[in-house]
Amino acid sequence: MISQIYDLHCHSTTSDGALSPDELVTRAAEQGVTTLALTDHDSISGLEQARQCAQQRGITFINGIEISAQWEKQCLHIVGLHIDSQHDAIENITRHLDKMRYERAEKISQKLAKKGIHGALDFVQKAVGEGMVTRTHFADFLVAHCHADTQQQAFDRYLGDGKVAFVATTWTPFDVAIKAIVDAGGIAVLAHPLRYKLTASRMKKLLAAFKLAGGQAMEVVTGRYNPDEIRILGNYANQFELAGSVGSDFHSPANQWIELGRLAPLPTNVKPVWELFP
Ligand code: AMP
Ligand code: MN
Ligand code: MN
Ligand code: MN
Repeated sequence: MISQIYDLHCHSTTSDGALSPDELVTRAAEQGVTTLALTDHDSISGLEQARQCAQQRGITFINGIEISAQWEKQCLHIVGLHIDSQHDAIENITRHLDKMRYERAEKISQKLAKKGIHGALDFVQKAVGEGMVTRTHFADFLVAHCHADTQQQAFDRYLGDGKVAFVATTWTPFDVAIKAIVDAGGIAVLAHPLRYKLTASRMKKLLAAFKLAGGQAMEVVTGRYNPDEIRILGNYANQFELAGSVGSDFHSPANQWIELGRLAPLPTNVKPVWELFP
């Protein structure tokens, strides 16, 4: 049997990735990925192109999305896998978040202008095209105009939470995001659970709430986790009876630390999310 390589979390130019959907699928195939889910931020517009390319390349393609959601005061990312991308519930969320993201972009641009940095919105609009506008596009603008050396520095100086050009946003309520994914026939997966920097007790509260709201899986293996973290996440998955997902969260070939399909194996005591695929 040919060994399967799954990557169930990555981004294209439809949100803040550097590669177009077909460039992304081509790269995934070259890296040996056998099942790929494209999970752009709050957008499904890249799925059709990616699916066609995956068919040509002979790899299995899964419709995905990464929804920006609000749980208490926390912004969380919920990945939806195997969704019907035409479903009204998904359409409503993407339309709403597209509008919110555009309004936030106008405010970010105004905040930058107050600091003497002009032209951000124009630059970002051109870069985004038909895709979703994200803070990463603003980071690219700041780097291109020499206000930061790297994307990371742009976040640290301007765009990160609480920084001068940060604009607080109320994202889609967590339970609404999960319900939309489930209603659209998909599996709701809590993305990169360690990135929220929660205490153990808050993590448990989150996982219980996620499960209660209809969540079925959590990411256990992502691009940057070490073996200890994977073990901890595997144990949480078991404790809360959630399946485990694997996804690189690949954005760009420029990030040499993260590659499509280059992921540690799921711990053997964790039920793989793909066993839930229809
Ligand atoms: P947004 O969803 O528009 O707020 O943008 C969030 C995106 O920006 C994330 O998906 C990351 O790709 C990127 N991002 C967020 N925080 C940072 C950071 N501190 N450094 C670099 N990239 C970041
Ligand atoms: Mn991103
Ligand atoms: Mn994310
Ligand atoms: Mn992501």
